Amino acid sequence: MDIVSLSQKLKWIPAPVMRLLERRLKRIPAVRRRIEREYDSLLAELESDLKPYAAEFPAHDRLPADGIPRGEILAQMETLQQRESARWAEGFVSGAVYHGDPAHIEFLNRAYALNSQSNPLHADIFPSTTKFEAEMVAMTARMLGAAQVGGENGICGTVSSGGTESILLAMKTYRDWARETKGIRHPEMIVPRTAHAAFEKAAQYFGIKRVEIPVDENFRADVRAAKKAISRNTIVMVGSAPSFPHGVIDPITELSELARQRGIGFHTDACLGGFVLPFAEKLGYPVPPFDFRLPGVTSMSADTHKYGYAAKGTSVVMYRGAALRRFQYYTTSEWAGGLYFSPTFAGSRPGALSAAGWAALVSIGEEGYLDAARRILETAETIKQGIAEIPELRILGNPLWVIAFASDTLNVYQIMEQMTRRGWSLNGLHKPSAVHIAITLRHTQPGVAARFVSDLRESVAYVKDHPREMGTMAPVYGLAATLPMRGMVDDLLKRYIDILYRV
Ligand SMILES: *Cc1c(COP(=O)(O)O)cnc(C)c1O
Repeated sequence: MDIVSLSQKLKWIPAPVMRLLERRLKRIPAVRRRIEREYDSLLAELESDLKPYAAEFPAHDRLPADGIPRGEILAQMETLQQRESARWAEGFVSGAVYHGDPAHIEFLNRAYALNSQSNPLHADIFPSTTKFEAEMVAMTARMLGAAQVGGENGICGTVSSGGTESILLAMKTYRDWARETKGIRHPEMIVPRTAHAAFEKAAQYFGIKRVEIPVDENFRADVRAAKKAISRNTIVMVGSAPSFPHGVIDPITELSELARQRGIGFHTDACLGGFVLPFAEKLGYPVPPFDFRLPGVTSMSADTHKYGYAAKGTSVVMYRGAALRRFQYYTTSEWAGGLYFSPTFAGSRPGALSAAGWAALVSIGEEGYLDAARRILETAETIKQGIAEIPELRILGNPLWVIAFASDTLNVYQIMEQMTRRGWSLNGLHKPSAVHIAITLRHTQPGVAARFVSDLRESVAYVKDHPREMGTMAPVYGLAATLPMRGMVDDLLKRYIDILYRV
């Protein structure tokens, strides 16, 4: 018997005992070697999928002795880009590329090119970039219900490199705020189990204890559990608008009010929804309050590089009041390099990405975002309808445009695998096992929604007829979802990253 199936036979062992057992087992050299061999064989198949160009293009594992002509390099990049773009351009991919219209991409590229030497670390040399960034924050804050922008008490913020950085920055800010103003040395954050992994990452990086609260049958955070979880060490509570896995909005009115009454921070993660929900609300869709109109919401994150339709690499993190934002900043007056300060984690930053982000916001404008939201939400309705008509499937919660579905009778990962064979790239979720599609402008092209529904219907029928045909990815997902030895799953993920960096 292999170690994976052995581990699955041990499901009845409680998790803490399992962790201990796993650590002990791994100390035995023979077991260690055996596990390593199994990792290798599990990952061998993936490696060729991840490195499709090995045979065709020369690998550079050191600097070429003489530089390669620019034309040759660009020609090679064009070949690679052409091979990779068809899939997302034709709307086969969940999320990933949120706009993707060639004229829009060309416009962003031009904005980038004009600013490619800019670095906001040198505000004196590139004041245009600081203008772009300040305006990105102001526009985003106003869109998200800020009555007042800037000043000591208005909504303020900074531009970051993405949703994860926005969230890491906000959590660090609350940690330092709570230490300074309340003397909290063992900070805790209250996080619904459906919140983005970036919160767990922040907990690891900054030594904050993550107190997880459950969600209800509609995948919305449990308010009563949140109330019970508050302690003297709580610095911040979190809600998603909407959550990445199931696309549902937490009860942010209730949660943020709890936080306000207890004098703790509340972060609304609108990374995914920031540039859709304000427009969904205007269009009459049911959008519960989630933004700065709620007095208890003290910070928010909204990703310009998702539904803000900017190039990848920007997001906005916002705070209620300048005093809170200052806990995010880094300053030093002691460094031999002189007086030094930076608003975010990076030192030098790509000003060109901020310029392109600003260009996206001002070129699309309110009407453009409203129209994009309308098209996305209408496409999502068609797709939800199509899923609802497949008796073997069940939509989780009441999502607007990020739609997760599960099956009570079939293995949903086998269905995902069949969708992959039909060209689709969907997201596998677990706890519970499900699959989602995040609808983007790519899916609003004629025929895409209908193709999705008919492919899904075919995939379900196929799995029903071939329940034993597991394929390659379905077992990996099934394993990751159910393996009691969680350390092994983490080890596998680390080795997966190793492969990415193999030349
Ligand atoms: C995408 C996402 C994030 C993280 O954003 P990155 O830009 O990938 O770092 C955080 N929260 C939610 C809800 C998201 O959908």
